[in-house]
Amino acid sequence: MKRLAILGSTGSIGQSTLSIVEQFPERYAVASLAAGRNVDEAFAQAVRWRPRVVSLATAELAGELSARLRKAGVSGVEVANGTAGTIACATLPEADFVVSAIVGVAGLEATHAAILKGKPVGLANKECMVAAGEILTAAARERNVPILPIDSEHNAVHQCLRVGEHNEVKTIWLTASGGPFRQLPLDQFESITPEQALKHPTWVMGRRITIDSATMLNKGLEVIEACRLFDVTPAQVRVTIHPQSTVHSMVEFVDGSIMAQISVTDMRLPILYALAWPERPKSTLTFDLAALRRLDFEEPDFERFPCLRLAFEAAEKGGAHSIALNAADEVAVGAFLERRIPFTGIPRTIEKVLAATPEAHPATIAEVLASDEEARELARALLAQSQ
Ligand code: MG
Repeated sequence: MKRLAILGSTGSIGQSTLSIVEQFPERYAVASLAAGRNVDEAFAQAVRWRPRVVSLATAELAGELSARLRKAGVSGVEVANGTAGTIACATLPEADFVVSAIVGVAGLEATHAAILKGKPVGLANKECMVAAGEILTAAARERNVPILPIDSEHNAVHQCLRVGEHNEVKTIWLTASGGPFRQLPLDQFESITPEQALKHPTWVMGRRITIDSATMLNKGLEVIEACRLFDVTPAQVRVTIHPQSTVHSMVEFVDGSIMAQISVTDMRLPILYALAWPERPKSTLTFDLAALRRLDFEEPDFERFPCLRLAFEAAEKGGAHSIALNAADEVAVGAFLERRIPFTGIPRTIEKVLAATPEAHPATIAEVLASDEEARELARALLAQSQ
């Protein structure tokens, strides 16, 4: 029986994880839930799963949840809050496995704390790997703690890598749907609206990641994530546009063999893989091969998707540049969704922030967070200036 700490339990990955616990009660139980701001959902989850600890974003929200649990006669559930609360969830002694699915760098300290305690991590949060990949993987290696990627591409790569040795890997091929603007004439990019950008052809996801898929910055973050997770250079990672999103990613080995992972586009599969690794439990997530007609692969156009170029450059420099890429993008996407900048303003903002970022390699999580805040301030100042 694995007892799970789920960081980001009310988000889509958190909810999918709980649906797997529901499906495999003989394998998984819930130890703790870090839930953010959704008190209604946190209450429902606490009543259903009776975790030892539930954490919410603020003391006020935690007070609200405590009162509701008391009223409902639910006892034995400790309610915590803030970063300390998330860390308490992640490091709870009885938790055997931590699902890290808080969006953004908010989950970084807790994920690091879990690794320091020797807990295996299922990582859905790519920002953690982008901002602090060097630190997290070093800590995990030292303690022999597995980090199992839940991001669908990296999960696919993790599966493909099982057939060869590290020194036999030639290229990691990350597949990308290309987003909704793969074929839009370039002169129309300036006038793309948030509504257009929020429509993703194959995956239903959160707002920032949907915009990041439209700019392909998401794939850029995944390039950096792949470098850190699998200890390869940016030159060993390639992106290919695969509109069917059927092959979730591939690994090419030095002998010329390419391993590809194919499955339904359903996040429950990578989550189940991460939770069960190195086992493979039976599931109902069957892929219909007969429905498969064709698989297309195209080179990405770096002029159409300047964010991808910027990400490869940031991957090469690492450290503060990887941090700044992620931070500047989050600020720029926010400004785009508020209609303060055009779609093309997103890569322009990131490029300016990267150009103003000195080369540095933060050695601690505190330094990473400070560098992240610096990049955000820089992005906000640049956006204020240009208005
Ligand atoms: Mg992905």
